[in-house]
Amino acid sequence: MVVTTSDKIYDVIIVGSGAGGGMAAYILTQKKLKVLLLEAGRHYDPETETAMFNTPEQAPLRGVSTPDKNFGFYDATVDGGWEVPNEPYVSAPGSEFKWWRPRMLGGRTNHWGRYSFRYGPYDFKPYSRDGLGFDWPVSYDEIAPWYDKVERLIGVTGRAEGLENVPDSPPGCHLPPPAMRPHEAFLARGFKAMDIPVAATRAAILTQPHNGRPACLWATPCGHGCSIGANFQSPTVLLPVARATGNLVTRPNSLVYQVDMDRHGKASGVSFVDRITGEHHSARGKAVILSAGACESARILLNSKQGGLGNSSGLVGRYLMDTVGSSTAGYFPALEKLPRRNDDGMSVGHIYVPWWGLNKQKELGFARGYHIEIFGGQRMPSMSLMGDYTDRCATPFGAGLRQEMRQKYGAICSFDGRGEMIPNENSYCEIDPEVKDKWGIPVLRFHWKWSEHETRQASHMRKTFLELIDRLGGTPFEGLDTDGEKAISVGGEIIHEVGTARMGHSAKDSVVNSYGQSWDIKNLFIMDGGVMPSSPDKNPTETILALTWRNATYLADQARKGAL
Ligand SMILES: Cc1cc2nc3c(=O)[nH]c(=O)nc-3n(C[C@H](O)[C@H](O)[C@H](O)COP(=O)(O)OP(=O)(O)OC[C@H]3O[C@@H](n4cnc5c(N)ncnc54)[C@H](O)[C@@H]3O)c2cc1C
Ligand code: SF4
Repeated sequence: MVVTTSDKIYDVIIVGSGAGGGMAAYILTQKKLKVLLLEAGRHYDPETETAMFNTPEQAPLRGVSTPDKNFGFYDATVDGGWEVPNEPYVSAPGSEFKWWRPRMLGGRTNHWGRYSFRYGPYDFKPYSRDGLGFDWPVSYDEIAPWYDKVERLIGVTGRAEGLENVPDSPPGCHLPPPAMRPHEAFLARGFKAMDIPVAATRAAILTQPHNGRPACLWATPCGHGCSIGANFQSPTVLLPVARATGNLVTRPNSLVYQVDMDRHGKASGVSFVDRITGEHHSARGKAVILSAGACESARILLNSKQGGLGNSSGLVGRYLMDTVGSSTAGYFPALEKLPRRNDDGMSVGHIYVPWWGLNKQKELGFARGYHIEIFGGQRMPSMSLMGDYTDRCATPFGAGLRQEMRQKYGAICSFDGRGEMIPNENSYCEIDPEVKDKWGIPVLRFHWKWSEHETRQASHMRKTFLELIDRLGGTPFEGLDTDGEKAISVGGEIIHEVGTARMGHSAKDSVVNSYGQSWDIKNLFIMDGGVMPSSPDKNPTETILALTWRNATYLADQARKGAL
């Protein structure tokens, strides 16, 4: 194999340009470090490439999901989804795991949901509360100032709710949340009757102009990406600032497969294959950051050395977690007669339900909580949604069907439970001994098992949704089974994979320290969800951004002192 090596030595090499890599580049370049950003995907420019205003009837098959566009024709994901051409992965016998990967500058930040939550004080110390899983080596109070910075930079909506373990942000951090839509006010009344709190949404979508970016137009699906920069994407919010410093070199189509080492036991750079030419290259740097996503960063470490690089703890790839998911949809006749209106608003719900059972986990029979995300209203219809309505109409076709659909449109609401998984020994990724990708690089093999804590939680989600639908006079039609084993999502399906290189107090119990720095190799850092010791119900990206801001600041400080 011919490997082309460049003579240039960068201060830092970053692998991956999504939430973690984008934020690391943003911080380090402003601190005047020379950064090489290696991204496996192609260049992507949201301003010129985003099909933001396209509507379903302009797309083949009216935009429905297909095997090569899993989330619909206009979804922003480039060259990826549940399968990436030429880059397979394997689920071990008896396990099922789904791994979502994009291949584009900015990674999943281009098409993520934008729910943006802080973890609460209990989330950082789960073991101390109930003896399960692992505590983080940092507390909420230590991370809070970094959450403040992230919210002020990217723009996150929210309101002080005064709820236990749902931290309120200091004044000036949150943008005003959007008003409730009629179906949300209706559902909020139902939740209130069940003694379940409802909160204003926390989402990285601008409700007013912010840091030179315009407010959301309330008109287009965020999953298409946002060409005006009104929501958070690494290529619209982080990378332009990094680029403007003159300290950033970005190399797309560069699939990193190995961290290279010098004879003093320090990282000297990385090796990568150009996905277009197939040529192998190596790049040199004084420090290396892996931000390829929790699973891919683990893959790089495991492929770098027999037994895994930075793996003296034996924990690389171990304790992989995803969010627990379960959903139900219901039809609400009470919403049928609402006047026709445009409910487009934010792509996410304008309200959500934070976990309300903190103090009765024992009687509930599962250890950790979940929150509920809500979807509904009279929004731009999609083909799949229209199918749900035709099923509820008595008239099979023609003008009668159209009239009935008009009357019923907006009366379907759905509920997604998103819950905490407790890390377990049976859920992990490792290198498959046989399967390799197109370039001969060994791929990941996933092992997965939910515990009863998660299946009982999924069952509780379904029962809660069914009770709510019943109380509001609705009829459930999807997600009816309350058997937790059947109600729960497939591992990886919620696309919140974390763990695999957890942080801790010592080299014995963890892969990295509280700054994401390898215990074994002091100039090697992990800056993605891999470092999380637990997986709270709250979606992970704001925490990835906050940890990376803090840890990149630490890295720059150490570099300045010559301590790496
Ligand atoms: C549809 C969807 C909805 C979501 N909704 C939410 C939500 O509402 N809230 C939330 O908090 N989170 C959400 N997420 C999850 C969120 O996108 C991730 O938590 C976040 O993007 C993770 O950041 P990351 O930097 O670890 O990975 P990514 O953002 O995926 O970035 C990793 C980058 O590394 C690149 N890369 C991978 N392997 C290599 C390699 N070997 N060499 C070089 N580069 C490599 C990838 O191409 C990618 O660009 C959602 C995700 C999806 C897909
Ligand atoms: S809904 Fe708003 S933030 Fe989302 S893509 Fe449209 S304009 Fe941008």
